Amino acid sequence: MKTLLNTVALYLVVLLTFLTAACSQIQTPLEKSNFTELSNNKDMCSFLDEVSANKGELKTAIIGRTTEGRDIPAVFVSTDEYGTDTSKVKVLLFAQQHGNEQSGKEGALFLIKEIAEGKLDYLLDKIDLLIVPQVNPDGADADKRRNGMDLDLNRNHLILTAPETAALHKLFDLYLPEVTMDVHEYYPYSESWTNFGAIKNFDEQFGSLTNPNTSQAIREFSKKSFLPFIQKYMNERDFTFQEYIIGGPPTVERIRHSTFDINDGRQSFGSFGSFSLIMEGKNGVESIDGIARRAEGQCAGMKGLLQFVYENSEAIKKMVADERSKLINGESDDPVAIQMEHIANGDELSLTLLSTQTNKDTVVTVKDYRPVVNSLYDVKKPLGYLIPKNDMVLAAWTKRHNLKSADIEKEEDYKLIQYFITGIDSIDFEGDIVINPSLEERNVNEKINLSEYLFLPTRQLKGTFITQALEPKSMIGLATYKGYEYLVRQNELYPILRVGK
Ligand SMILES: [Zn+2]
Repeated sequence: MKTLLNTVALYLVVLLTFLTAACSQIQTPLEKSNFTELSNNKDMCSFLDEVSANKGELKTAIIGRTTEGRDIPAVFVSTDEYGTDTSKVKVLLFAQQHGNEQSGKEGALFLIKEIAEGKLDYLLDKIDLLIVPQVNPDGADADKRRNGMDLDLNRNHLILTAPETAALHKLFDLYLPEVTMDVHEYYPYSESWTNFGAIKNFDEQFGSLTNPNTSQAIREFSKKSFLPFIQKYMNERDFTFQEYIIGGPPTVERIRHSTFDINDGRQSFGSFGSFSLIMEGKNGVESIDGIARRAEGQCAGMKGLLQFVYENSEAIKKMVADERSKLINGESDDPVAIQMEHIANGDELSLTLLSTQTNKDTVVTVKDYRPVVNSLYDVKKPLGYLIPKNDMVLAAWTKRHNLKSADIEKEEDYKLIQYFITGIDSIDFEGDIVINPSLEERNVNEKINLSEYLFLPTRQLKGTFITQALEPKSMIGLATYKGYEYLVRQNELYPILRVGK
């Protein structure tokens, strides 16, 4: 009898140990499905609540809700309250702005799991981390690129008319993270590339800022320090690397390091003096194809960035503080590029592609490689802009961007210029055609009642961004967007005024 009891007791102990081990094993929803089902928004939110409840350094908050009623969660990772220890670097990682790019979110959940398991605690000595694993839950659950309003969120960072981008920028404005990375996937199987006979086959692409109005110091630091670091980091973990390129195939279309537009996640936060990056993994033919390795690649890329920030925390903090101080306290009259083009500089680009015939690597030299962004047209940054107070569209825009307004005290110290639009021509913008108005400048000091205007000074973090948004000749400005065309009308005055010295 005693032996039997002992045996039962032993079995119970073994069973209990097994159950405890099984329970303490954290699994993302994707792992729980044994990689057969993508994590949906609801299961992702439950997973985040679960890990946050069990690890003091993790906190989950809902930062917004989509038009279809889904939550957008953000995960704050800190040994204190996020952002309170000013010696730490604040990092913001955000993924899945495009709903059919699933591995960014799955990789972010892998990263959160590793944090929950305590594997990355050392990073928190120097880093406060903020992760938005799924910016676009409506698109994600439907496995489509656009959000529930049928908007491309990564073209919405200037106008911020989607709840998802508005929530992300509100979060950024609140904490002003020094480092941001926007996580995507590229789709290599398009018809033009397949016809070319070779396709892109890089596990991860990383891109730095390309808009020439962003900090030159940050762009150089990204190119000279970060890209070589992350290439080595990824290669050591058996993932292939490429500096982020778009365009092509190589014999058909120019190849460049992506757009200079300020309406995407990388360039908008970069315009505010952030060390801002984009990462793109390789998508599957179907969203579930090879998802384990794709998510691991994205997770490795995020960890690589965190490792780089950890090793360079002081340099990054100083660089970003200097650049933001220049934006806030800088002189007016600095040139701001508002029309730009991609040009060649004599460099050749060799790309390692995957031959669709042999299924082996093939090295292709790109004929039309345009790595440099050149300004076609500059304006001098004014002291600020006057926006008519009765324009509700513009008032709402300034609010969404949390722009600072000020009073003009002594009118006689300023020169108020209003543009008269004498004609509307067009200009090629990366293959699209946008308006290019011709302007006449009018001095309007006597005619303006200042009480009817809101003054937006350019001496603020978003001052250069404001200039690119509000100049009527800007090929990336507000007037080029649906809903804002009314700003530019032939033979009429442009309603926004320039304030100069
Ligand atoms: Zn994308």
